Amino acid sequence: MKPSIFGYEAPTTLEAAISLLAGDPDAMVLAGGQTLLPAMNFRAANPSLLVDIQHIQGLRGIAVGSDAIIVKAMVRHREFELDEEVKRANPLIAEVMQHVAHIPIRNRGTVVGSLCHADPSAEMPLLLALLGGSVVAQGPSGSREIAAEKFFQSFLTTARNHDEIVVEARFPLLPAGAGWAFDEVTRRHGDYAVVGVGCVLALHRSGRATGVRIAACGIADRPIRLKDAETILNGTTLGPLDLDAAVAASLVAVTQPDDTNVSQSYRRRALGTLIRRMVARAAQRAETVA
Ligand SMILES: Cc1cc2nc3c(=O)[nH]c(=O)nc-3n(C[C@H](O)[C@H](O)[C@H](O)COP(=O)(O)OP(=O)(O)OC[C@H]3O[C@@H](n4cnc5c(N)ncnc54)[C@H](O)[C@@H]3O)c2cc1C
Repeated sequence: MKPSIFGYEAPTTLEAAISLLAGDPDAMVLAGGQTLLPAMNFRAANPSLLVDIQHIQGLRGIAVGSDAIIVKAMVRHREFELDEEVKRANPLIAEVMQHVAHIPIRNRGTVVGSLCHADPSAEMPLLLALLGGSVVAQGPSGSREIAAEKFFQSFLTTARNHDEIVVEARFPLLPAGAGWAFDEVTRRHGDYAVVGVGCVLALHRSGRATGVRIAACGIADRPIRLKDAETILNGTTLGPLDLDAAVAASLVAVTQPDDTNVSQSYRRRALGTLIRRMVARAAQRAETVA
């Protein structure tokens, strides 16, 4: 199919882009176009105007700070994946990125575009939720920082207002010595996850886990932090009974109904298996800290 008729603007300043959005309730931001253009071709999205943000100064670049990695709006997935400083600062990111679509899509698609699209099966929203990151949205009345747990509201729905552009995302660094892990169950490599799980944790020299964070995608209408499982595992030696309890406490978070490909009970089984594997992998990679 072909898209319905739309206008196109490519402003060079953020102010001009925001004013175009504010002036047309059916205008949409165009970043890498890897989701929006197919959606337009299927007429699942019918914007009256595309506001292309790729020529705006100041929306490119990655900065590794002392506590977070700042990713500007026009940073492509592939740049984020291959950046050596990012790999050193937070090795979890490279592990997650290889699961996002295929290289040609990662060459064009942007990290922030994926966050704004907010597909509950996508890896970038899970990464932001797992790390406790945030985005910065700029609109006509200024900019505001929105924490991941507030930003992702529902299926393809975020806390961004129509006339706001997300100018950057902030991905926190891993705590010193922390172990990390991400993996997913998927029908084919490069597809969206059926279920994906990420884990970050540290190990005390007593062998007990601290700072456990676990998040999943593909199980509900948004990425989900599995806080009950985290509470259960913190302070334990991550033994089989601890893991059984953590998995049992997490299954209730699976609210995605049966669909043509996968049943809800399959998602529950996949979630349980991935939690066990990711906790074990993260623990293996963690350095013991005092
Ligand atoms: C075949 C295929 C397979 C894919 N597989 C996966 C996968 O496995 N995992 C995965 O995570 N993704 C996958 N994707 C999606 C891909 O990662 C996209 O790049 C990403 O979802 C959107 O990024 P984009 O820059 O292309 O955004 P666009 O398509 O340009 O925009 C997406 C949406 O976000 C809005 N938007 C974009 N940037 C901003 C901004 N800065 N401020 C406000 N709103 C903004 C747009 O208005 C639009 O609603 C796949 C895509 C394809 C075509």
